Amino acid sequence: AGENRWIAERMSLMGKTTVITGGARGIGLALAEAAAEAGSNLAILDVLDKPQRDLSELGVKAEYYRTDVTKMDMLEETFGRISREFGRIDNCVTAAGIVADKPFFEHKWDDCERLLKVNVLGTFFCAQLAAKAIREQGTGGSLVLIASIASHMAIPLQRLTMYGATKGAVRVLMTQLAVELAPWNIRVNTISPGFIRTDMTELCAVQQPELYSVFSSAPPLGRIGEPSDIAGAVNYLLSDAASYTTGADISITGGLIGG
Ligand code: NAD
Repeated sequence: AGENRWIAERMSLMGKTTVITGGARGIGLALAEAAAEAGSNLAILDVLDKPQRDLSELGVKAEYYRTDVTKMDMLEETFGRISREFGRIDNCVTAAGIVADKPFFEHKWDDCERLLKVNVLGTFFCAQLAAKAIREQGTGGSLVLIASIASHMAIPLQRLTMYGATKGAVRVLMTQLAVELAPWNIRVNTISPGFIRTDMTELCAVQQPELYSVFSSAPPLGRIGEPSDIAGAVNYLLSDAASYTTGADISITGGLIGG
């Protein structure tokens, strides 16, 4: 029983401040809910008018910052406000991401630029701003970047060519950052989700309706994932229980990616 208490204590996020990009809906929102349930205060960034759920009802401090992760001025201002309003930043989860809305042969330069800006540069600069704040505090911290199964394997889906490349970049960023930020005890890891039921998969399935059956029959566990399926691993990575875990990728795909 003593051992269980040790784990429970280290899994707690009580008193920490977690920044979550793309936290207004989908996977980001589920991660915000789970972090709040473990006691973390939340700074949620997204481009939507408001989050789908107000998480201050879970008894933590939860603020919403309408911020586009591709706008550097806005990002700097938001991270400055978070540091002032919360007094600290301990963790950052980058879930803001987009998928292409057209197949490979229809991609224009601007479509690719947009994907790279949101998925790669937005991730890079959020990680940089969070790491600067954590370095100044001298407390250590944890960054979790959301990559994708599309960075590990080819998927029979029309829109994932450049998207997959951006998620590959996110995983390489993670391995580099894990080394770069280790001297400040800032741990950096990625999660690679498989098929998860959100507006993003809905968007893909609108043009390829047969994808619904791929999403649910391809994973060995025999179902599509839910946003909450991602949350336990992220809470672990944000917590002190993961104090020796950095530079790692955790695939959460219902068994699609083997070891
Ligand atoms: P989603 O579209 O439901 O949520 C993404 C959120 O990011 C939205 O709230 C959106 O408004 C926000 N966002 C988009 N551009 C932004 C910007 N410029 N600045 C700030 N916020 C922005 O999608 P989701 O499925 O919840 O995806 C979350 C993350 O998980 C993404 O990075 C996605 O690539 C990744 N992912 C999803 C799946 C899946 O099957 N759903 C699989 C693998 C990886």
